[in-house]
Amino acid sequence: MNVQFHKWNLQIARIVVICLALILLSIPVIAQSDSGGTQSNDYLFNDSHFHLTNYVQEGIDIHDFLTIMGNKVGRVALFGIPLQQQWSYRVDADRGPTYYLNSDAPLYYYSFTDASIAMAYKSLSKEEQARFDPMITGFNPTDMYAADHIRRVLRTFPGVFTGIGEFTIHKEFVSAKISGEVASLQDQALDRLIDFASEVGLVILIHNDVDVPFAKPGATPAYASQMKALLKRHPKATIIWAHFGVGRIIRPVKEQGAIVEDIIKDPDLKNVYFDISWDEVAKYIVATPESTKNAAEMANRYPDRFIFGTDEVAPANQETYLKVYNQYEPFWKLLSPEASEKVRKGNYVRIFDEARRKVRSWEETHLK
Ligand SMILES: [Zn+2]
Repeated sequence: MNVQFHKWNLQIARIVVICLALILLSIPVIAQSDSGGTQSNDYLFNDSHFHLTNYVQEGIDIHDFLTIMGNKVGRVALFGIPLQQQWSYRVDADRGPTYYLNSDAPLYYYSFTDASIAMAYKSLSKEEQARFDPMITGFNPTDMYAADHIRRVLRTFPGVFTGIGEFTIHKEFVSAKISGEVASLQDQALDRLIDFASEVGLVILIHNDVDVPFAKPGATPAYASQMKALLKRHPKATIIWAHFGVGRIIRPVKEQGAIVEDIIKDPDLKNVYFDISWDEVAKYIVATPESTKNAAEMANRYPDRFIFGTDEVAPANQETYLKVYNQYEPFWKLLSPEASEKVRKGNYVRIFDEARRKVRSWEETHLK
């Protein structure tokens, strides 16, 4: 009896082990990042640059956006647009402008965007929230009190934000339209803002054109040295230079590669990254086989320093949302597997997970 009974137990134990193995094998590979972000390896990319709302603060519902992300996009750095395009009846009568190129009426800083982004995030489940990194943008970077706005938003919405930006200093067609003082890279208000963000551990996403529109060919790029000086003044801050300084008509200057490589090679600027978001940027990179090859070589040489983003604004559907990613196809093809993974996904996780950890711990010690 004992021998028989023993054999049965063994049989049952074997069956249990086999079942367990089968169950384990069917669970998809989910890499748990230690700041709570879940990341399936099947996504195409993480998006370091996404606007949920446009220049008149209209956008899409975040739950609809989750559907648009689907299983294509893993994590998203989420923000609005810190500027409101004014609808001036004196200027545009009944035609309400929705974009800064639609009207001569001014733009003004719009702080409520942070509250609407925070409330959209808070309307999600914990699991859904793990896919987003909300960013504070509703401040005026020429105001010494901008740092205080960020502290106030963190206090009002603890546990929500991971970074600041995208905020703008020099931007073609935009900076000159903003009511009040023109933003400057040499403004102490900007240094105070970045010092505070750096102290908290917030990722900083800054839009600053490297040059002015219609610059004389061969002229020194207007803002390259001021931008480098700003970065040098904040070696501890984690800074992403949006669009590596180019724009709709701000073409890559001939020194563009040298400007980027000079920053990458500088031991004091290890915390500076470049996002390649926006279809206006992608157009330069994939313009010719040569431009694509040059950009891919740079990314293969420094795979940790470039980060993909769409810069899409409240897209209506997934096709529109994936447009920039698809535009980069010739570029992706030339990247090494390591560089491709890092630029599309890995750098995002490393940079934003570290910021999440730091900001939560700052909140723990400073807001409780
Ligand atoms: Zn943007």
